[in-house]
Amino acid sequence: MEMKKSRIILILLLTFNIYSYAQQKPFMDYVLSWDGHSSKLEVELTYSAAQKDSTVFIFGDPNFGGQTDIFKVVKNIRSNAPEEVKIDEANRRITIYHKGAKKHRLTYEIDGSLPVDKPTTASQTELFRPVITKGILTLVNQLFALDIIDGSNPLVSFSWRSYPENFSYFNSVQPSQTDPSEKISDYYNELSELVYFVMGDNIEVKEYSVMGIAHYCVTTKEDKYGNDLQENLSPFFESYFPSIHRFWNDNDFPFYFLVITALQNNQKELGGGGFGIKNGFVMKLGRKFGTREKYVTAHETAHSWTGVKIMLGEDSFDHQWFGEGFNDYTTIINLAKSKIYNEEEFLHYLNEETLKPHYTSKIKAVHNDSIAANYWTDYTNYGVLPYRRGLIYAFYLDNQIRLASNGKFTLRNMLLDLYALRKAKKNDDILSVDDFINAGATYLDKKELAEQIEHHMIEGQPIDFNKVKLIAEFNIDINNNIPKVNLTEGADLSKIYQW
Ligand SMILES: [Zn+2]
Repeated sequence: MEMKKSRIILILLLTFNIYSYAQQKPFMDYVLSWDGHSSKLEVELTYSAAQKDSTVFIFGDPNFGGQTDIFKVVKNIRSNAPEEVKIDEANRRITIYHKGAKKHRLTYEIDGSLPVDKPTTASQTELFRPVITKGILTLVNQLFALDIIDGSNPLVSFSWRSYPENFSYFNSVQPSQTDPSEKISDYYNELSELVYFVMGDNIEVKEYSVMGIAHYCVTTKEDKYGNDLQENLSPFFESYFPSIHRFWNDNDFPFYFLVITALQNNQKELGGGGFGIKNGFVMKLGRKFGTREKYVTAHETAHSWTGVKIMLGEDSFDHQWFGEGFNDYTTIINLAKSKIYNEEEFLHYLNEETLKPHYTSKIKAVHNDSIAANYWTDYTNYGVLPYRRGLIYAFYLDNQIRLASNGKFTLRNMLLDLYALRKAKKNDDILSVDDFINAGATYLDKKELAEQIEHHMIEGQPIDFNKVKLIAEFNIDINNNIPKVNLTEGADLSKIYQW
């Protein structure tokens, strides 16, 4: 009896195995190796093949920082016999012919060397390239992982086989995982928003809790500009992030991170460059962390809401007055509230960086539609226009709402209503200018609001501050048609901006 029972169990198990093999979920497992001093990352990829005959991968993306020399970065692409690899460099296609193989494994190398004879001349050069050099590695998955074209959504994993034991490690998929040998994984479609890896002997990872959510601060410990970046950034984690979370009443994300590392290969002072990633922001810095860098860090991290979670129109270019300008306003009022900006810095940004250049700009009155058309070719004029135009309107609107409600409501209340409208919509439904007007109609006359947007934001006519009343805490001087905001005596920014 015993024998028979175990045989039945055995048969059941075998059947189950066959069944699960046929139902195998698509996967891509990357195993990475780096020795800590060379410029070579070794990649081993095992994957499931949806097609019997061949699998096609695409490497790199020229839109990501203009990578033109992709096949100088990826090298020695090899498969195991009997599989054969064919590379089409022009189209960045790597085709593997399976030839009956049941298991699929591809190996290749990523060359992250920084040319010593060609020092970095723009922070973007290092930002959008793999940096794999003595003591430091910074890498976006797009720079070493492969794209698939078959529409399957494999479970993608990353783990490290060999790496320097004493180096600090950070990954943006699951930052709490600090052991590089442990697998981190997520579905392919989720990873399309980029993954960031940092490893180094001069890297510090500090964890904060902001409203109960883990926040990570990843920086180089020392650089040649004398920065103490952990020190520079601690006010963001201690004040700015708590302030902006409370502003939006939002803690609906699993974690947040900032990675700010010094450029490795520059010889003169360069500014910073950065990009947002899901749940975080990455910056490369080539000088002292100063007022400009504070602003950039605050502005970019504020985009988690305005411009990303809450975007007007089909495309981020449609209504940049909102995506950039209103984001800039929430940035500076949160910088003031968190005391990273003092009164002087706040007024400087409002007056000298915004009102003055806007009201003296030759193109201040161009139509909203002309911005996207000229954005990249004439950034100096058109690129900055929506930031300024939108910030000025946001300031004006905040004052109007405060006056109309006797100080009971502010622009924040309207923005929270707009955010609620966004959350109530389906993901692929857009938030429109009409939604913006409807959100504002709770606080202001709807017809007037619609006219203001059409006149000032779309047609582009500057607001005439001669005819504008502000709250008692602000007054305005107008000299040579340039408005300048002042705080009235006894007015206190931390009382004006509180939530
Ligand atoms: Zn922006």
